[in-house]
Amino acid sequence: MSEFPVTRTNRPARRPADDALRFGTVFTDHMFLMDFHPGEGWHDARIVPYDNFSLDPATCVLHYAQAVFDGLKAFRGADGVIRLFRPADHAARLNRSCERLCIPELDPALIRQSFEQLVALDHRWVPSKPGTALYLRPTVIATEPFLGVRPSSSYRYFLILSPVGPYYPEGIDPVKILATDQYVRAVPGGLGAAKAAGNYAASIYAAEAAHKAGYTQVLWLDGVHRRYLDEVGTMNIMLRINDEVITPPLAGAILAGITRDSTLRLMRDWGLRVSERPIAIDEVIAAAADGSLAEMWGTGTAAVVSPVGELGYKETRLTINGGRIGALTQRLYDAIVGIQYGTAPDPYGWAEPVRISDNEAA
Ligand SMILES: *Cc1c(COP(=O)(O)O)cnc(C)c1O
Repeated sequence: MSEFPVTRTNRPARRPADDALRFGTVFTDHMFLMDFHPGEGWHDARIVPYDNFSLDPATCVLHYAQAVFDGLKAFRGADGVIRLFRPADHAARLNRSCERLCIPELDPALIRQSFEQLVALDHRWVPSKPGTALYLRPTVIATEPFLGVRPSSSYRYFLILSPVGPYYPEGIDPVKILATDQYVRAVPGGLGAAKAAGNYAASIYAAEAAHKAGYTQVLWLDGVHRRYLDEVGTMNIMLRINDEVITPPLAGAILAGITRDSTLRLMRDWGLRVSERPIAIDEVIAAAADGSLAEMWGTGTAAVVSPVGELGYKETRLTINGGRIGALTQRLYDAIVGIQYGTAPDPYGWAEPVRISDNEAA
């Protein structure tokens, strides 16, 4: 595939020091754009200087949230090589989200090329301090200006890049999570399995309530019985009771996390007993009370794994594994981070090196 046309910025920004990086506040010099119009399909792929969009106030996405996104990372290894983690899987998931929102799908090869070419162009923005990364945010929005609930006729795909600091600047810090039976994130048949913008708008009220009660994240229970675990915050949830690792099945209401998939693959290859099955909050509380709940963690691109140190539900507040990260959670973290930074072998071919051309390296 030939390269996409590039308009370079004539005002390159100063890159923050690796130590000053947080999450999602600083963006690189360029962005990738591509548009969809009836009769033309997806067209006009290009890289341009990072800039504002100009949108008609009636633009569909601003009213009806016909929008999807994804999120993945590029890592600079100790060997200087920049690697994208499972880019093909993220591209495929973006298309599945598009389909659910009636957005025309993109050529997956083109999505991947957008990742590679933009990261290669802005490669000086990939930080190198351990734990840092360049976060990629591919997004598709409905751009037709009209009021009315139907699919838009036009769309824009854009990709922006943000250098991010370590998720755990002071070492892995277990989170406190609150299971709520008052609010739900998704129901079977709804949007829960898509990375749809509207899902996050729907989640913030419950997250604010949890923060006020002294918790970091919401443990979402299923929307029908309000009893079975779905997800934690914007991560998939896993736990270990005795020697069984349990995670809820992909039954339509939860997002098929790529970190979820990576951790399941590793644990199965390590010979552990792993079950994708519904698990009720009562079972978790009972296991925590009798000491068989050994560890619990969330999985997602931002943190890789996020150990749960405390679980609240109704009147109960329980500590898990003494509020510390469990041995399996730590092992999963180390295994995935090793592959991402190229310090461990990559038997699954998850980490894809980004080629920097001489032109870009100059
Ligand atoms: C993105 C996301 C995840 C984690 O997916 P990864 O591919 O592992 O980053 C889990 N749940 C929700 C709701 C998400 O939006």
